[in-house]
Amino acid sequence: MTPAVDAPLVVLGAGLAGLTLAARLARERSGPRVVVLEPRTAYQDDRSWCFWRPEQHDLSHLVSQRWKTWTFSDAAGVTVRHQVPGLAYQYVRGSDFYASAQADIAESPRVDLRLGVRAGTVAAVSGGVRVETSEGTLLACQVIDTRPRAAEAMLYQSFVGVELERDHPLPFDPREVTLMGSLAADSEGLRFVYALPLGPNRAIVEWTRFGLVPINRERLVGELDQLLTGLGLADARRVRTEGGVLAMGLGRQAAPPIAGVLPAGNAGGALRAASGYGFLRIQRWAQLCTERLLAGREAVGHPEEPRLRRTFDRIFLQAVRAHPERTAEYFLALAHGVPPAGLVRFLSDGARAADYARIISSLPWSPFIAQLAAPTVFSPAPTATAATATPSTSTSAKR
Ligand SMILES: Cc1cc2nc3c(=O)[nH]c(=O)nc-3n(C[C@H](O)[C@H](O)[C@H](O)COP(=O)(O)OP(=O)(O)OC[C@H]3O[C@@H](n4cnc5c(N)ncnc54)[C@H](O)[C@@H]3O)c2cc1C
Repeated sequence: MTPAVDAPLVVLGAGLAGLTLAARLARERSGPRVVVLEPRTAYQDDRSWCFWRPEQHDLSHLVSQRWKTWTFSDAAGVTVRHQVPGLAYQYVRGSDFYASAQADIAESPRVDLRLGVRAGTVAAVSGGVRVETSEGTLLACQVIDTRPRAAEAMLYQSFVGVELERDHPLPFDPREVTLMGSLAADSEGLRFVYALPLGPNRAIVEWTRFGLVPINRERLVGELDQLLTGLGLADARRVRTEGGVLAMGLGRQAAPPIAGVLPAGNAGGALRAASGYGFLRIQRWAQLCTERLLAGREAVGHPEEPRLRRTFDRIFLQAVRAHPERTAEYFLALAHGVPPAGLVRFLSDGARAADYARIISSLPWSPFIAQLAAPTVFSPAPTATAATATPSTSTSAKR
């Protein structure tokens, strides 16, 4: 006899992807029963999610800062300012997102978020998918797996940042975001500063590197400290830190696919290959998945990348791999040569043919033409600890 399923849908991991889907399903009046497993016992303010959207949208209640200007600058400090009428770069604080999603889930009799439970082995069995967990075994009809996993990637974005505060103004204009500041590159790849002013006296400052391999966190922390000292911020209070390693342009997964199990979130291709942005893509996937489940159909993974975007991103990352020392030149060419609206559409998955034409005409041709017919090259999957987006630490107010 086939054993009874514990839940039609089990979601492994309640980070951005798992919680977004669970909260959306929880807000509906009907839908399948869902169990969501998450090893954390409590959420911390461990990351900031930013994206471009018009001022008002369905997630406006979660946005705590908006900026109408974002900047790019080179190593000499030459700055390009971008604005798009009606559009803002928006910031969702991790802790606000987690609290809101948990509140929605708590109201639902059908969505069961189990904190402190770690998922282990997952296997296709007769009657569904069996999930071993730290609290016993579950049988599901379908599983969505958002746990970080090792995969080949074309490039790694490694970064570490701090939220800073001091009693007198910080050296940032609170009206604008430093999207890619002090852009520079060498044979290891690109490096730049990302700064989100949260008020005159408070800001998040991040140090980012793009490279063929993940960069060790200690090294990034040392470089961030140097940067902060150079900015006269060594004595600012460190409220919290965040950081991670994002795999850009995924290749083969180390683990083979399992019937009835859908990878989702970063592990399922949520990150945009050319940029590492994933927040809005995860929102769109969760919306699509919710609609399918409400219609009584199976859950789905992230939609396949449209061919033009996939090809363009591959050539872009391949050109970066071939000439890491030229990466700053590429991004500065885009900042100078592509109208801000077109560049935002490109970064937000909405590029039109004219945007691609403008991007191509702005970039130096020879390194890109050389990659048109070249085979795609990946870096091997790093060890599990290095590939995982580093969970960030909590507040240094407590340190
Ligand atoms: C610090 C940081 C900042 C970012 N900022 C942006 C941004 O500004 N804009 C943007 O678009 N994208 C951003 N990203 C990229 C992307 O949006 C995030 O990585 C996002 O969190 C991905 O969601 P996810 O659900 O795939 O992964 P996560 O949010 O990391 O969730 C994975 C979950 O799986 C859980 N898990 C791990 N092991 C197990 C297990 N054995 N069993 C069950 N659960 C398990 C983890 O605890 C975690 O909760 C950022 C990424 C990071 C790391």
